[in-house]
Amino acid sequence: NSNNIVVSRVLQKTDESRPIPNPVKTFEQAFRHYPLILNEIKKVGFETPSPIQSQGWPVLLSGEDLIGIAQTGTGKTLAFLLPALIHIDGQPVPREERNGPSVLVIAPTRELALQIEREVKKYQYKQIKAVCVYGGGNRKEQVNIVTKGVDIVIATPGRLNDLVLAGYISLHSITYVVLDEADRMLDMGFEPQIRKVLYDVRPDRQTVMTSATWPPGVRRLADSYMDNPVQVYVGSLDL
Ligand code: ADP
Ligand code: MG
Repeated sequence: NSNNIVVSRVLQKTDESRPIPNPVKTFEQAFRHYPLILNEIKKVGFETPSPIQSQGWPVLLSGEDLIGIAQTGTGKTLAFLLPALIHIDGQPVPREERNGPSVLVIAPTRELALQIEREVKKYQYKQIKAVCVYGGGNRKEQVNIVTKGVDIVIATPGRLNDLVLAGYISLHSITYVVLDEADRMLDMGFEPQIRKVLYDVRPDRQTVMTSATWPPGVRRLADSYMDNPVQVYVGSLDL
């Protein structure tokens, strides 16, 4: 049964157990305080939240860190994306005064980064702007968009480091980080670039990690950069 779901504080270091927010059954339940988001998701016409969304949304909307372990095609993008939009709008410092992006999504490949960008563009929310930066893409054009001001940067690790070093992307304004397909990024050797970037992102940020698997390398990465995360594991129980 691929819909088995296990929810736990998998890296908890103390005995103090914060309760885990309950899963939602419907989009209405998930976004009842956010009518504009609810309206957008209704337009798309999905019937119900996927398991990772059903448990991930309440966790992320309560400001907690999330590790989503689930196979490809289980709706992980929307699981982190809709809370990201709400997060951007909910920051105490208004967007115009933030001097840089609020959300950073790091993805392993150009194809995945572009796919996430396409997904972002389907949802209109308070004119939130996104840019996708990746190796092989037109650097000048990417720099142009970044410097005009964006809320969300979707990036592959190499080009991200390049644009950060060159001073075009500021990491100090970022308060919500997504490491998408962390297992693949480690397999591709991106760990040094990821660590370099995260070193400069403020420690009180919210962090999301998605992965299809949970090997020791991914666990170590989560251990270094996440704060008492809730892990949502979707899949077969016969490990
Ligand atoms: P993953 O990142 O887990 O591989 P995606 O987020 O790319 O998966 O989603 C896979 C597909 O499922 C996309 O086409 C997406 O639009 C669709 N999808 C996302 N959430 C739902 C949902 N709740 N119901 C039906 N389809 C969904
Ligand atoms: Mg994905």
